[in-house]
Amino acid sequence: MTFYVGLIKQFLKDVDWGELDYLLIDTPPGTSDEHLSVVKCLKDTNLKGSIIVTTPQEASLLDVRKEITFCSKVNLPIIGVVENMNVFVCPKCKISTEIFPPTTGGGQKMADEMKVPFLGKIPLNSQIGKYPFIL
Ligand SMILES: [Zn+2]
Repeated sequence: MTFYVGLIKQFLKDVDWGELDYLLIDTPPGTSDEHLSVVKCLKDTNLKGSIIVTTPQEASLLDVRKEITFCSKVNLPIIGVVENMNVFVCPKCKISTEIFPPTTGGGQKMADEMKVPFLGKIPLNSQIGKYPFIL
């Protein structure tokens, strides 16, 4: 754990980032020391907030609710929630299938309940992972 916290601090403070339009930091799910370190390291910057990504099923929503609570505890604004992999649209027949059924209402309902903006849904795409990436 400590190793990663040190690494995060070094990465954010010791790197000459130059002029940036955006710096996106992709973190795994959780509310660990690593997440806290990122927020602390960036507290005096022009930090806009977090975009929280979930999948439709309750296992993911459980983590995301904790993440939203964490963000409010550390005064990190939430730009919004995105639901990833909400459906798979077959590229041949165009039939849409819920790979991860939203048994408790999915990202939209959770965002409404947690009173945070819902930004949208992104379908699973069979082209992801192929090179070159063409939609
Ligand atoms: Zn099909």
